[in-house]
Amino acid sequence: MKYISTRSKIKPVTSAEAILQGLAPDGGLFVPEKIPKVTLEEIGALQDKTYEQRAAWLIGKYLTDFTADELGECSELAYNWFDVQARVPVAVLIQDMKNPVAPVGNMELWHGPTSAFKDVALQMLPHLMRMALKKVGETKTILILVATSGDTGKAALAGFADVPQTKIMVFYPEDGVSQIQKLQMITQRGKNVNVTAVRGNFDDAQTGVKKIFGDKKIRDELDALGVKLSSANSINWGRLVPQIVYYFSGYLELVRTKQINLGDQINICVPTGNFGNILAAYYAFRMGLPVKKLICASNSNNVLTEFFRTGTYNRNREFFKTISPSMDILISSNLERLLFHESDFKNVSRYMNELNLTGKYSVDKKLKTRLDKIFHAEFVTDDETKTFIKRIFGSFKYLVDTHTAVSVAALSKYRGRTKDLTPVLNASTASPFKFTAAVLEALDQTPASDDFAQLKQLNYLTNAKIPKNLDALAEAKILHSDVCDFDQMPEKVLNFAAR
Ligand SMILES: *Cc1c(COP(=O)(O)O)cnc(C)c1O
Repeated sequence: MKYISTRSKIKPVTSAEAILQGLAPDGGLFVPEKIPKVTLEEIGALQDKTYEQRAAWLIGKYLTDFTADELGECSELAYNWFDVQARVPVAVLIQDMKNPVAPVGNMELWHGPTSAFKDVALQMLPHLMRMALKKVGETKTILILVATSGDTGKAALAGFADVPQTKIMVFYPEDGVSQIQKLQMITQRGKNVNVTAVRGNFDDAQTGVKKIFGDKKIRDELDALGVKLSSANSINWGRLVPQIVYYFSGYLELVRTKQINLGDQINICVPTGNFGNILAAYYAFRMGLPVKKLICASNSNNVLTEFFRTGTYNRNREFFKTISPSMDILISSNLERLLFHESDFKNVSRYMNELNLTGKYSVDKKLKTRLDKIFHAEFVTDDETKTFIKRIFGSFKYLVDTHTAVSVAALSKYRGRTKDLTPVLNASTASPFKFTAAVLEALDQTPASDDFAQLKQLNYLTNAKIPKNLDALAEAKILHSDVCDFDQMPEKVLNFAAR
C-alpha cells in the first residue's frame, strides 16, 4: 500500500516515508491510495485476540512495508504501559432508561500513562518512527519539537522517552499550564528528553517552534550534528492509524458483553477537535466495520456542526474558551482527509486555498449529500456539559470528564432529533481526574484551590479511583527546571541536539 497527497498528484511513497515526512511535499496530508477492506469473518476472528494483537493485525492492513513481527513488537511496547489488561475497556451504560435496547458503550481511551486518549497514538508513533528510520536507511537522530498548552506535551514525552534514535524537546508557557500539567512534564524521566518553560503564553512557544522549523540555518547546524527535526502532531499518518484499532476493539467488546451480535450496526459518537479521532472511526467504517452513523460532537466552538449541517466551513467566528479545552479548535486539520476520500484532490486543494485566503469554503452539493449519509453533527454548551456529568453520575454512579460529557450530550440530542436508537460506541477521551475543577462544579461542589486537593476531593465524593500516574505526581522528583525567553529557544534546541 502506497500513500499519496490530498492536494495534488505526487509520487506515491511507502508508509515508512509518509510517517517520517509527516506532511506531504505539496502541503497536503498523506492518505492511503486505497482503503483496505476487512470481512465480518476477519473481524470476528479478532474476538479471541489481545488488544496488542488486534492492533498489529489492523495496522498491518495499512503499513504494508512493516512486517507482522515488527508491528507486534511496536504494539507490545506501546500498550504495555496501559493500566488495565483490556487496554481500552468499554463501560456499558444504558443511557435511555425507557429504551434498554439502546445501550451506550463508553469506550475508555484514557488508561495510558497520561490519562488521556492521545496516549493510544503517541505511545505507538515513536516505535513506528524508529522502525521507519531503519527501513529507509536513515542514520540521523530524529528530534521531535513540541510546543504545548499542556496535554500533548506530556503524552509525547511519555511516548518518546528512551526510544532509540529519537530525542524529544517540549516547550510550554511558564504560566500557561495547570499545576498538574506542569508537574507531569517537569518530572518526565528519560535520557533523550528535555522540557523547557518559555516566558510568555502558548502562542509565543508555538511561534518559536514554528520559526525553528522554518529556519534553514538552524536546520543546517542540526544536520551537521546528525540531527533531523520532526513533529509528532496529529496530522502524521503514524498518529492516525493506531486510532482505527479501538473502534474495532470496542465493537468486539459490545459483542463480547452481548449488547450486540456480530454484524449488527452501531453508531459511533466522538467528541471532536482536530477531527483525528472521528476520522479514524470513518476509516474503520470504510474498512467494513458495521456502522450506521458517525456523530460528530462539538462544544461551543461549533465550526464542524455548522459545516456538516450547511456544507460551509467558516472559521471567521468568535473563539470560545470552554470547559472541554482539548476541543477548542477552529481549524480541524484532519477534515481535509475526509474531503479527499469523498471527492478528489482537485476539489480539496481548491477548498484549502479558499480556507487560507478567506477563512471559509463551501463544498459542492454532491459531496454534501455523500457526507450527509454518514455524518450527523451536534454541539453542546458548557452548561449542558455539566448537566450531563451530573446526570450520568446520578443514573449510573459513573464519572465522565467534560469532553466525554459533550459527546454523551450530543448523542442525547441526536437520539431526540432522529429517534434512532441504534446501540452506540462513545469515545471517552479523558479521565475525569484530568479536568477535576469543572467536574467538581458539575457535581455542585466548590473545587479546592490546590490541584492535588481537588483530586482527593473528587475521589472522596464519588469513590472513583485517582489514576496512579496523577496520584504519584505529588511525590515525583523534579528533573527539568530550565526557563528561557522566546528568542533563546533556537539556542536551547541546538544545545540539546549537541548533547
Ligand atoms: C485531543 C482531544 C480531543 C479531540 O480529538 P481530535 O482527534 O483532535 O478530534 C478530545 N478530547 C480530548 C480529551 C483530547 O485530548
